[in-house]
Amino acid sequence: MKMSPEMKKAQENMISGVLSAEGFLGEDEGRPLRDLIEETEELFSHHGLDIDELTTLLEELMEEGRKGLGEPITVRERWLVQTTEARGHLPCPFEDGIQRKITALIQNKANEESLLVSSLSLHLLMKHHFIEGRGSRFRMEPEQVKLVLDHDGNRLSSSINLRGNEF
Ligand SMILES: [Zn+2]
Repeated sequence: MKMSPEMKKAQENMISGVLSAEGFLGEDEGRPLRDLIEETEELFSHHGLDIDELTTLLEELMEEGRKGLGEPITVRERWLVQTTEARGHLPCPFEDGIQRKITALIQNKANEESLLVSSLSLHLLMKHHFIEGRGSRFRMEPEQVKLVLDHDGNRLSSSINLRGNEF
């Protein structure tokens, strides 16, 4: 499929050494971004994961985890979240803004599976349906996302319904 100029530009920005030393494409550096995004959408759909729902939950876990000021804290009884913050911002490769340098290690307390999320990787999934290439440090593998967010077989939305019961 033909890629739009915006998509081509984003792909150029993702090559290692352009916006970051590591880049965003990992082992998929030679593959068209359009294909990677389509694959991502199919994978999440295959695992029964709604990208809007799960990114909303991840964003909230990350925000609440920041209250630990760098120490791991329990969020909503189910997750242990530890955030790291650095000064400055990172530009999105799609050139639609900048993201703070915040990372969160989110661990499911029941099965001890964890997921590393950054403000930028979360934005990339939420807005662009892009999870970074295979082998990238911040790739959000759908199977791992499912394990971390959805441990007890309940639908993801039941996790989201816990919202508001916290305070
Ligand atoms: Zn963006």
